[in-house]
Amino acid sequence: MHLSRRMLRHEIIWMVCDQLETPRTEYGPYFTRIEAEVAAIRLHACFLLRYEQGLNAEGQIISERVSAIRFPESGQDVRLTLVYTRCASCGAAERHDHLWQAEVWADIHEFENTGHKVRLFVRTTDNQLTEVNDWRSIAAARERTV
Ligand SMILES: [Zn+2]
Repeated sequence: MHLSRRMLRHEIIWMVCDQLETPRTEYGPYFTRIEAEVAAIRLHACFLLRYEQGLNAEGQIISERVSAIRFPESGQDVRLTLVYTRCASCGAAERHDHLWQAEVWADIHEFENTGHKVRLFVRTTDNQLTEVNDWRSIAAARERTV
């Protein structure tokens, strides 16, 4: 297949930060908005940055558009509600009204059951359960200053 040098593909990545002025520190990247929201809650960040990157055939970024979304949206402290945890190792599952409850549950479960790994699911507006990848690993988030 022939690929033109100018051929574009678009990629969306999400970063989170606590203010919009530069210089600022951004954390990420996250590949879904829900992952970015979970990270924003855990990092006490109040903006989600949506980067739309245009890449050429070699994978270099040749255009970038960023939009900032205040989080939580519209100033309400919505945060994440209705989250579900399920242990990948033993299948134990629980429903929570808030993310922090899910974290406490996961902490206790993983403390009491060595080697168990708790997964997080969020019910999205279209009523689907979506898994949030790497929800416990803030340490994995990279930092960059822009
Ligand atoms: Zn378990």
